[in-house]
Amino acid sequence: MTKKRSQHNPKHSNQQKIIRLLCQKKTINQVDIAEEIKASLPTVINNVNELVKNGILERGGVGDSRGGRKPVVVNLNKKYKFIIGIDFLVDTIKVVIFNLSMEPVALEEMKSSRFIDFDTVMDKLTNLIKDMLLENNITVSNLLGIGISIPGVINTETKSIEVAPNLHIADTHVKKYSKLMGVPVFFENEANAAAYAEWQTGAAQGARNVLYLSIMKGVGAGIIIGNKPYRGSRFKAGEVGHIIIKPGGRKCTCGEQGCLNEYISAESLIREYSNRAGKTVESLTEFMTLTENNEKKALEIWDEYVADFAFGIRTIISTLDPETIVIGGEIARYSNRLIPAVHEQMKNSKSNVIGNDHQILSSELMESASITGVALYLRNKFISKY
Ligand SMILES: [Zn+2]
Repeated sequence: MTKKRSQHNPKHSNQQKIIRLLCQKKTINQVDIAEEIKASLPTVINNVNELVKNGILERGGVGDSRGGRKPVVVNLNKKYKFIIGIDFLVDTIKVVIFNLSMEPVALEEMKSSRFIDFDTVMDKLTNLIKDMLLENNITVSNLLGIGISIPGVINTETKSIEVAPNLHIADTHVKKYSKLMGVPVFFENEANAAAYAEWQTGAAQGARNVLYLSIMKGVGAGIIIGNKPYRGSRFKAGEVGHIIIKPGGRKCTCGEQGCLNEYISAESLIREYSNRAGKTVESLTEFMTLTENNEKKALEIWDEYVADFAFGIRTIISTLDPETIVIGGEIARYSNRLIPAVHEQMKNSKSNVIGNDHQILSSELMESASITGVALYLRNKFISKY
């Protein structure tokens, strides 16, 4: 029963606590470790000795003294193990090698045509990873795993990507990719991965129930309930982009009409402006600049957007009642304008049931949220088995 040894063995439990602490604090002295994990200094020193011997920690000289002998500082060994995060975006795939402190050691981007087949993409990715490992002197045996974030429905039972509309992928079995180069591979939906990262190390730290809204080309949500990621019984929890907010409204790619996607995605802003103002904007940045310059049509569309956003959020809140709502994705760059405006809209609600005092925060990890999430998941799995 090596899997659960930590639950029965106080030594391993203390070692896990020390590793977790180092993951948070990066560097800490042994006296403070003893205080934080509520263990005696000799116990901490023994455990640190063992962790140093195993290569996971290293002693890094002496820290600041609070009187008396200067305490010995401990760090995570930045060369001990690595994790690869992969983020499938619409036309780019991002690959990052993280160390155990979740610092990016290497980053590469690969252009991907949405019409290329998944096997070809995975072949190209494998070659890219091999090159990155070589360049950074990292051996495959030093990899804990490869986490892949996909903007789509991932069925972890059938090991398939059921649908990822923006990547033009459907019913794609990924079981054969449960290992790459002998290293375990973990697939996760991008909003779930981002929610996990914000909850573990970002805006939603310490919250038990979290709703992360990913506002990109489409709209998705990642959900944490009772300190656990919630994926739903068919892995479709958080597909909030297809909540119908205007029956008979704008046509959605899912086949329905009036879905939230068509009203609060970053793309919907660009498209609405281009349709209604008779001149094309190419990007969210371009659209937001028009609103900053008080362009009349852009402001009108922004106001409608904010109203629909508030309506959508209220609908989701009434089901989940989260402590913290994190706004992520491309629109999060404009959180300082969006969040106060949405709060203002929500204040107009006459409902005495839902309330309007919800904590809505901007993503802290921004465009790194999903890739950090898949890597964090693998790192935490490693620590929990240590
Ligand atoms: Zn839809």
